[in-house]
Amino acid sequence: MERVRKWVQVVIGFLINSSWSFPFTKTIYQGPLKVICSPGLNCYSCPASTTYCPLGAIQQLLGGLRISLENGQYFFGFSIIGTIGVFGGLFGRMICGWACPFGFIQEILHKIPTRKFAIPRLLSYGKFFFLLVFVVILPLALIDEFGTGNPWFCKFVCPAGTLEAGLPMILLQPNLRHTIGLLFLNKFIIMVLILTWAVFASRPFCRTICPLGAFYALFSKVRLIKLHLNEAKCTNCKACHHVCPMGVKFNESPDDPECITCLACMNKACQFDAISLEIGGMPLSVPNKGLSPANKP
Ligand code: SF4
Ligand code: SF4
Repeated sequence: MERVRKWVQVVIGFLINSSWSFPFTKTIYQGPLKVICSPGLNCYSCPASTTYCPLGAIQQLLGGLRISLENGQYFFGFSIIGTIGVFGGLFGRMICGWACPFGFIQEILHKIPTRKFAIPRLLSYGKFFFLLVFVVILPLALIDEFGTGNPWFCKFVCPAGTLEAGLPMILLQPNLRHTIGLLFLNKFIIMVLILTWAVFASRPFCRTICPLGAFYALFSKVRLIKLHLNEAKCTNCKACHHVCPMGVKFNESPDDPECITCLACMNKACQFDAISLEIGGMPLSVPNKGLSPANKP
């Protein structure tokens, strides 16, 4: 199942970044597919990107809200809110585990053999701070002389934007290099720190900073596809704790907002069939690789 997940990550990564003419055009794809919302974090300005990033779109929406209302345009971006609402309601943070290119990059970096470190659970609240302050409050509240707010998270923090868009565009368009200033250096340092952290700790950006992960985490209890704990079968052996890339103690918190439904606990750890995948409360039968007749209860 882990191999299937990896293939899904690769295929979705290619599908949402399928404009490969950029080495010749040296520009960002602006074709008809750009109206499609990417489920995970994937920068709009990545030269290969054929979709838009939901996080950037929300900030643009909120940043322009005041001026829209002043002009009598009461349209509130229903397509963006509706799309990510549907993603969240169906999959929640499963999107982080299966469909986010920046999550996939962190997983690859974490395979570099080094000593690994845990991330304190307290830091996981950081992503809700970034969602509330950088994605909602600042774009809404701080406006320029034209009445427009900035996409604060994209502009000042987002390491995916620096990696997927900033660096490639500077390489493709040498005339952009004179624009490199403190703002770019600040984002470049953030990107380097996060990518380095990902070598030593599992998915640090997803767990502590990503506002999109925070948004999808709000659906952890109500999403259609999620894991179920059969308490009657659980022996509290805690084997599931040791394989979780998100630091979840599944038997203690089966609806944990950190769970990205990677299925490692179900397939690699639990020997007692206590964990199952459900769609709308209906169990899906997935073979448990860890179970052998000898250790069945
Ligand atoms: S609780 Fe299980 S499915 Fe969820 S992230 Fe951890 S190992 Fe993956
Ligand atoms: S591995 Fe299975 S049996 Fe052990 S604590 Fe986790 S859910 Fe319970």
